[in-house]
Amino acid sequence: MNRIVFATGNQGKMREIRAILADTGAEIVSMKEAGIRAEIDENGSTFEENALLKARGVRAALHDGADIVLADDSGLEIDALGGEPGIYSARYLGEDTDYSVKNADLIRRLEGVPDEKRTARFVCAIAAILPDGGEFTVRASIEGRIDREPRGEGGFGYDPIFYVPEFGKTTAEMTAEEKNRVSHRGKALELMKEVLKKK
Ligand code: IMP
Repeated sequence: MNRIVFATGNQGKMREIRAILADTGAEIVSMKEAGIRAEIDENGSTFEENALLKARGVRAALHDGADIVLADDSGLEIDALGGEPGIYSARYLGEDTDYSVKNADLIRRLEGVPDEKRTARFVCAIAAILPDGGEFTVRASIEGRIDREPRGEGGFGYDPIFYVPEFGKTTAEMTAEEKNRVSHRGKALELMKEVLKKK
């Protein structure tokens, strides 16, 4: 398979991506490793649009048109807040605001909301651009609910407040392997792998 360039600078994501795509046999590099430092505006209105914008930005900066370009966009949707923070998850209360503050704020906004109405999901869309310019996206999610207090030291971002009833714990209390198996990103990467194998 052609080389895969993934539009992220996040080392944690790259580890996860390399583990899941290892059996494709493709060389997998981050945009940084491919020598690209593009600043891409994520001004789409859906996870899919933002993932495609990132992938197009990287493809435009690449010298080698034989590469497959992948990009992801993800976030947390809380039903009782009309889907917030959604595509603004990273920017919620400011990009540099600590997640202890963001998480405490979301818990405060859900004060008095009973368990059955605290439903939420992590969503991940992954976009691919093939060497012939063909574009497609896949999406996966994990369902859970917003807990009443943060718990767990693993993961990142909103993980300490995202409780998954089947596991009886938050995604911050799962091991990396557990989370990769059931997470929005893990499942979207598996889907993407299946589609790429067929192309
Ligand atoms: P991006 O996909 O890198 O733009 O990031 C989206 C944002 O969604 C992250 O910065 C986090 O705030 C949130 N997010 C996405 N996936 C997860 C996850 O697995 N755990 C916790 N927060 C997440």
